[in-house]
Amino acid sequence: MTLSLPTLVVVDLYVLTLVGVLMAFAWHGGRRDPTLGYMSAMLLLGALGTFLGSLRGMGIDLVPILLGNIGLYLCAAMNWTAMRVFAGRRPHWPLIGAGAAFWALLCLWPAFYESLAARIFVNTSITIVYCLAAISELLRSRRKLEVELRPTLALMVFHTGFYLVRLVVDRGMPFESVNSHGQGSTFFTLLVFETMLYAIGISFATLSMVKERAELQFRSAALSDPLTGVGNRRAFMDSGERLLRLCAERGEQASLLLCDLDNFKRLNDSFGHPAGDRVLVEFSRITASRMRKQDLFARIGGEEFACLLVSADTEGACQVAERIRREFAELPFMADGQLSVSIGIATTREAGHELVRLLSLADQALYAAKAKGRNRIELAAPEPGADRRTRG
Ligand code: GH3
Ligand code: MG
Ligand code: MG
Repeated sequence: MTLSLPTLVVVDLYVLTLVGVLMAFAWHGGRRDPTLGYMSAMLLLGALGTFLGSLRGMGIDLVPILLGNIGLYLCAAMNWTAMRVFAGRRPHWPLIGAGAAFWALLCLWPAFYESLAARIFVNTSITIVYCLAAISELLRSRRKLEVELRPTLALMVFHTGFYLVRLVVDRGMPFESVNSHGQGSTFFTLLVFETMLYAIGISFATLSMVKERAELQFRSAALSDPLTGVGNRRAFMDSGERLLRLCAERGEQASLLLCDLDNFKRLNDSFGHPAGDRVLVEFSRITASRMRKQDLFARIGGEEFACLLVSADTEGACQVAERIRREFAELPFMADGQLSVSIGIATTREAGHELVRLLSLADQALYAAKAKGRNRIELAAPEPGADRRTRG
C-alpha cells in the first residue's frame, strides 16, 4: 500500500478543520464545557500547524519549521489543557507556551536549525512531554472523575507510543524528499496518518466523557437538595428501599428518625426567610455529622428530615436522636429556646424492612411528639394504639 503524502496532508487538514469546527459548535451549543473549547482549539491549531508545515520546500522554510511546529506544540498543549480542565484544574498558560517558546529559542541556534535529526528529536520530545502530561492529568484524578476514562487513556497512550517509536527510528526527511509518486519518508507519512486518526478518536472519546459527566451531574442534581446539599426525598426513597433490602438479607435491624423543626413558620416570620434557610443548613450539618458512612440522611420536605440508621436498635437510635435534638437547641447564633426539633422513631422491629411502613410509624410518633409539646423524641408503638415510650 502506498500513501501519497500531499493527498494525506490535504485529507488531514480537511478532517482537523471539520472536526475542530464541529467541536466548537458542540462547545458553544451545549453547556459550554471548557474541555470541548480546548479540544476545538487543539484541532484548529493542529490544522494550522499542518498547513504551515506543508509549505516546506517552497523557499520559505522558516515558516514551516518555526511557525508550523509552534502551531503543532500549541495543539499538543491544548490537548493537555483539555484533559487538565476536564479534571477540574485551571489551564497553565506559561506551560502551554513553554514548548513553543523553547522551540523558537532553539531555532535561533544555527547548528540546531540546520540539523534535521536534532529538530526531529526535539520536536518528538516536546510532543511526548505534552502527551504524558495529558495522560497524567486523567490518571491523577481518575477516582474523582467517576466517568469511563479508558478509551481516552488508551488513545493517548497509543499516540505517545507512536511518538516514542519515532524518537528511536525516524531520521527521515519530511516534505523535501517527496518523490515523484508523492511519497515522503515512510515514518513521516505514517505520522500524518496516525495524527489524523488520533484527532478523530480523541474527539469522540472526549465528547463521550463530557456527555457522561453531564448526565451524572443531572442525575445527582435530581437527587440532591440545592439548599443543604443533602439528598432529597427521591434519593431517600430510592436508596432507603435498597438499604433496607440489604439489611433484611443480612438479618440486620434498622431505625428511622423522622425530624421536623418546631414552629418553623414562626421563626421565618420573626427572622425572615434567609435566617430560616440558615437554620435548615445548620440542622443538616449537625445531623449529617452524626451519621455513619452506611447511614442515609435526606431532607424529605420543607423542614422535615429523615435518617435511616443501619444496624441500629431502639437504644442506638434514641441516642443519636437525642444528640441531634440537644445540639440543635444549642446552636450559638440563636437565643435559648428559639430552636427545637421533634423526632419520631420507628424501627424494623415494629415495621419490618419496609420503608413506607417505617415512615408511616415514625410519622405517627412524630405527631405524638408535637402533640406532647414539641422538642422531644417519641418512639413508635409496636401495635397501633399501644403506649409509647417517651424521651425529651
Ligand atoms: P410545627 O412545630 O407544628 O412543625 O410547626 P411549623 O411551623 O414548623 O410547621 P408548618 O408546617 O406550619 O410550617 C413549616 C414552615 O416551613 C412553612 C414554610 O414556610 C417553611 N419552609 C419550608 N421550606 C422552607 C425553606 O426552604 N426555607 C425556609 N426558610 N422556610 C421553609
Ligand atoms: Mg413540617
Ligand atoms: Mg415544623
